[in-house]
Formats: sequence, structure tokens, C-alpha cells
Amino acid sequence: MERRADRRTKIVATIGPASESPKVLASMMEAGMDMARVSLAHGPVEETIERIAQIRAVARQVGRTVGVLADLPGPKVRAASFPDAGVMLEQGERIELVPSAAGMGSDNRRIAVDQSDLLAILQAGDSVSLGDGGTSLLVDSVGAERALATVTTGGRMLGRPGVSLPPERLTAGTPTAEDLRMLAAMLDAGVDAVALSFVRSADDMRRFRSAAGSDAPMLVAKIETQQAVDSLEEILAVSDGVMVARGDLGIRCALEDVPHYQKRIIRSGVAHGRPVITATQMLESMVRAPVPTRAEATDVANAVFDGTSAVMLSGETAIGHDPALVVATMARLAARAEEDFDYLGWGRNLGRTQAALAADASADVRITGAISAAGWRAAVDADVTAIIACTNTGDTARAISRFRPTMPILAATPSERTARQLAVAWGITPVVIERRETTDEIVWFAVMAAVEGGLVKHGDTVAVLVGSPDDPEPTTDVLRLVRIREEPSGHGRATPR
Ligand code: PEP
Repeated sequence: MERRADRRTKIVATIGPASESPKVLASMMEAGMDMARVSLAHGPVEETIERIAQIRAVARQVGRTVGVLADLPGPKVRAASFPDAGVMLEQGERIELVPSAAGMGSDNRRIAVDQSDLLAILQAGDSVSLGDGGTSLLVDSVGAERALATVTTGGRMLGRPGVSLPPERLTAGTPTAEDLRMLAAMLDAGVDAVALSFVRSADDMRRFRSAAGSDAPMLVAKIETQQAVDSLEEILAVSDGVMVARGDLGIRCALEDVPHYQKRIIRSGVAHGRPVITATQMLESMVRAPVPTRAEATDVANAVFDGTSAVMLSGETAIGHDPALVVATMARLAARAEEDFDYLGWGRNLGRTQAALAADASADVRITGAISAAGWRAAVDADVTAIIACTNTGDTARAISRFRPTMPILAATPSERTARQLAVAWGITPVVIERRETTDEIVWFAVMAAVEGGLVKHGDTVAVLVGSPDDPEPTTDVLRLVRIREEPSGHGRATPR
């Protein structure tokens, strides 16, 4: 079993031109990348498929469990590519906006926008944000061939930044036909998770799930519209994870609401047992600089204090100057913040929230909720060395991870894909064990894996959560406290009792 650092908050890092080489990928994995994100907004599907194969190959080489998250663009409008070195848009400069045509690029005189009816959508007086909203333009006039605009807030443009057009004049919903085409390719590529942009309602996620089929990977809802914030509970009920996509959230909603929405999304997502990824501009200045700003360092720590499951890097690792250094910096900041996290307070609060949530949940959800709450309580009271969650789908492990226990959580699973998906769940070290038929056998093999991995040793007590595999609809319904003793016959073999 691979050993992880003590850090519990997971790191998702976006792979792009700066990080796709095997050498950089390996150093990012060594530095602590738990999940690699490939964004389909930035390049052709074929290029993404190659990147995924590369990530898998390097993870095998370095012996790390690294998940792959494919991020579908939704109806997001983007500019055609700026030159590799990027361009600076200076405040006060005039610039043209045109609908993009094949082979067209963007530069500091003309921005080509992937929206064929751009000139019908734009009106003089519109404000258009670029990228994650830091750069903005004011539309002066709209003609038959182009619109003319003035840069009101300057900024550097790299890659294919998003172009935020007035949302009330855009009609496309999510997932788009293009998203579904990309989803099919990502299912074939065997990704572990797929994120959908610009989700507005639970129905969007239901359509997405029905297109993903019965053996779907984790489906992650990106929360970046006001409608999604308003329908958060319903969206959580039909999603496997959520992302606080702060870039677009800060454009579509009032900027001053973003920190509060972040807290609310994290709290609700974790209570539902859904991993929450806090994303965008976390260490933005490290696209170019070797150290983050003090504000960025504080932002990472605050996301950890909010209870986030994972923190995400975007441009910092996709196009930044030193992706491995950014991951290492993120890992250091998160690990330090965890030292001051109020674990017991979080667990107690969640216990109360669970009682309220359970009221209208299905029997399975209530049983998993109750057994994980009991598992956390027992782990605290018995002061166990580790918690072991035996899991097929990962649900049991995510259920106990919600309580943010101080002790390590080992997820023992027979599924390689579940192990990779748990790479984004807070505090979980996944280990793949042989599939076993009885509860006793599963417990035995899981505890042995923990001993062999050096997570627990003779004399320790562990809390084990496990289901009854022969049940036609298996749920996690068993909690066992296991003392690990030396086998009488010697050989230093540990024997759970
Ligand atoms: C965001 O808007 O914050 C985000 C994560 O989405 P994207 O990177 O696709 O713009």
C-alpha cells in the first residue's frame, strides 16, 4: 500500500501544456497531486484522451493512486486562443470582438469569440468579462462584422479565456449536445469523475446522469450560477460531488456573496457525504511567481477551515511556470491549516445536522448515516488508531469522512476505480483488496492491509465499518472495534481479534 503524507485535504490540479509531460506529471504526483483535472474547454477531445493516457501511465510508474476528473464546458463561451506567450490588454485600449471562424486566433487588437450569433447578442453598453472576471470590456458599438469595445479593467490573456456574455440573452442549457458527445468520449477513456459546468437545477444533473448510464463515473456539479446556489440541496441529492467554481460564480453572482456561498456549499455538500472541491484563483499569482501572495495563502487555509474536501489548481498548473512547486506549496499550506482545524467541533455539529437530514432520507441513506455517526462516536470514545471503511462504491468511506475524524481513514475496496475516486475525498487513504464474500473475511483482509501498509500496528484498536455482501441490497450496517494482537505462532503476523 502506498503511504500518504499526513495531509487530509486533497489536491486537484489541472493538466495543460505546462504539465502534460511525464516528467512534470511525475513531480506533481510526488508533490501531492491526488486528482488530475483535464478541461475539455481548452483543446480537442483527442488531445484530452492522450493526456488521460499519459496521466494513467505516469501514476502507474510512480505507484500513486491518482484520479482523473474530466471537466465539460457546458454552454460556456470562450475566446479563440491567444498566442502562447499571452498578451496584455491595457486599460483604455480599443478592441474588436468578432464571432470566431476556423483557424482564427485572438490577440490584443481582436478577440474571436466562439459564439456564432455574437453580434446579435451584444448591445452597446454591455459589460463583458474575460477569464475569471478580472479583465473587462465595455461594448461601444455593434456592427454587421464586428463589435468595438474599450478595455475597462486590463489584464493578461492566456490560452482560451471564458467570455461572459449577458446571461439573459444566452439560451443554451446544460448539458449541451457537445457536452454529451464529450461525455461519451470520456466514458470510453475510463475517467473516474466528470464535472459539468453551469448546472442550474437538479434536472440538469438528472439529464447528465441518464446520459452517463448505469456504470457512470462520479458526476460532479459545478456550482457557478445563482440558480445552482438557490437549488443547492436538490442538486446535491442527485450529484456525487460538487465544485465551488468561484471564477464564474463571481461573475454570475454578486462578488461579495462568493465567500458566503463557498461556506454554504461546503457545509451542505459535506453533510450530504459529497466531496466538495474549492476551485479557482487559489494560488493564481503562482502562474508566474515562485511564492503565492499572503492573501492566497490565507484563502487556502480558510477553505480548509471551511471544511473543503479538496482544493483545486487551474492555470497555476495548466500554464504556470512551475506546476510541481505550486502543488508542493498547496500541500504545505493545507497541511499547516489542518493543524488548527476544529475536528471535534465539526464532528459534533455534523452529528446534529445528520439527525435533521435523516428525517426525509431513504432507508439506505439513513442506515449509512446512522452507522457512520456511530462509527465516528466509537472511534473518538475508544481513541482508535485508524478507521477502516470497507466499501464497494466509496459511499461508506465518504460517509465517515464527513465527520472529519482526527485519525486516518483507510478505505479498503475491491474496485480500482473506487480507489481513484476516493482520491478526492477528505482524509481517505484508499487501498485495493481482493473481493471477499463474507463480512468476517472482508474485515480480516482490510485490517491486514492496514497493518501491512504500516497504518496500524500490533496493540492498536481500529474501528471498522462494513456491510453484509450477501444482502441483495448491501448497505453498511456493521461497526466493529478490532484490537490487533500478535499472532501466537509468531512470524510477526498481526491478527485482528
Ligand atoms: C470556475 O469558473 O471557477 C471554474 C472552475 O470553471 P472553468 O475553469 O471551467 O472556468
